[in-house]
Amino acid sequence: MKKHIKILKKKLKNFNPKLKEECGIFGISNNKDAAALTALGLHALQHRGQEGCGIVTFDGKQYYSEKRFGLVGDNFNKEKVLKNLLGNYAIGHNRYSTTGENTLRNIQPFFADTNAGGIGVAHNGNLTNSISLRNKLVKDGAIFYTTSDTETIVQLIAKSKRVKKIDKIVDAIFQIQGGYALVMLTQASLIGARDPFGIRPLIIGKLKNSYVLASETCALDIIGAKFIREVENGEIVLIEKDQLKSIKPFPPKKIRPCVFEYIYFSRPDSILNGKTAYEHRKNLGVELAKENDVNADIIVPVPDSGNAAALGFAQHLGKNFELGLIRNHYVGRTFIEPSQKIRNLGVKLKLNANQSTIKNKKIILIDDSLVRGTTSHKIVKMLYDAGAKEVHVKIACPEIKYPDFYGVDTPTKKELLAANNTNDEICEYIGAKSLKFLSLEGMYKAIGFDKRNENYPQLTDHYFTGDYPVKPIDELGDSKITQLSLLNTASNN
Ligand code: AMP
Repeated sequence: MKKHIKILKKKLKNFNPKLKEECGIFGISNNKDAAALTALGLHALQHRGQEGCGIVTFDGKQYYSEKRFGLVGDNFNKEKVLKNLLGNYAIGHNRYSTTGENTLRNIQPFFADTNAGGIGVAHNGNLTNSISLRNKLVKDGAIFYTTSDTETIVQLIAKSKRVKKIDKIVDAIFQIQGGYALVMLTQASLIGARDPFGIRPLIIGKLKNSYVLASETCALDIIGAKFIREVENGEIVLIEKDQLKSIKPFPPKKIRPCVFEYIYFSRPDSILNGKTAYEHRKNLGVELAKENDVNADIIVPVPDSGNAAALGFAQHLGKNFELGLIRNHYVGRTFIEPSQKIRNLGVKLKLNANQSTIKNKKIILIDDSLVRGTTSHKIVKMLYDAGAKEVHVKIACPEIKYPDFYGVDTPTKKELLAANNTNDEICEYIGAKSLKFLSLEGMYKAIGFDKRNENYPQLTDHYFTGDYPVKPIDELGDSKITQLSLLNTASNN
């Protein structure tokens, strides 16, 4: 084996195989069950973040807030917690940290008293100029309580010289850059905002006389709300009782949603641009099949991330789709995390080869993406150990060569396998007989956009192309966060 593959193997052994995910946000107006419906919405959005969750409500007089580490179902199913969250307006948040450390004080929504009254803020995404803004605010005397970039937004709102709260919010939004979707709660209104390129998702639903804002449509389905439309890129929606007002403070831009919502993040039953994520992923599999040049006996998905693409692939070629890997659904994060030794077992804890389907078979193994190669590296070996004759790996998106700064928190370029290695080198590292990624053209075709036609909406696809719609200011500068010296003393009760 080549020396550099050996070094790569050693290096990758020490990485956490799980990438960080995004956050889920939810808000509802004008509903006597606001807190309970928010808990349900957050439960549907659980896949977007499992580190912590929180709900803030307003009852016409004051705000109520409950935040917890862990899953929504474990924390917000208790009568006693929901009973504390009074009021007809609520916002909620599922956290998986993309910036900031993992402490209770970083769990959202954040709440602040400003000279125009209280405000709660929940944020999905990542600000690309948060550190430079934060350092300026600190120089001006601002005191930060958390290390989350969302607090920067709250501070900007509080510091604005404008009089009306909505003007203070617009003022703050004008200063921030990056990929963001926000839900905010003021005494008079529920407010939603989406970044000028619409990188992060936010949709509007209606439940009788209530408006709902959520990261994905699956959060509407669970409470029986109807999908109305997406919040447009660069749009701010102001909801008061059953009225919705749209504010568009930015010069119009073409929308460029994040391609990873299509490939990986969104729940398969959520609708993106008129189709379910499931349909988009099946189409990615179909395009992958059109580019296929390998003959195999069976098509096996990496569950669950590769399921839809593998199904599309198999159906297009008329090949047998088999569950060659069985997933244990009861592996919690806490079980995987405590020590590096246990973490290295990660894939084995989660997946096992299904001998009966794979023995002596030529297999095409399909996953949605390959980042550090940890998953494929372990699964290919598992399949060979269980008697597979050949394992060919197909990835239903192009090579990820560039890091993300808009809330996905992929590793640095140094850690991205495809950024530093040829196809053959990656193939050797993961131990497969062959390896192929979907082409960029195939990916655009599958999702229904055409990269070459300017009239079509495009995607935020920097992972593959290095084409960043928003400059990552903090990354380019030498801005370093002023470290917090206070230890987290809050308890999770
Ligand atoms: P890796 O094992 O590092 O190559 O990562 C690829 C695997 O992680 C695939 O099975 C993906 O489904 C999954 N994946 C891709 N993006 C993310 C993400 N942002 N967070 C968690 N898992 C991811």
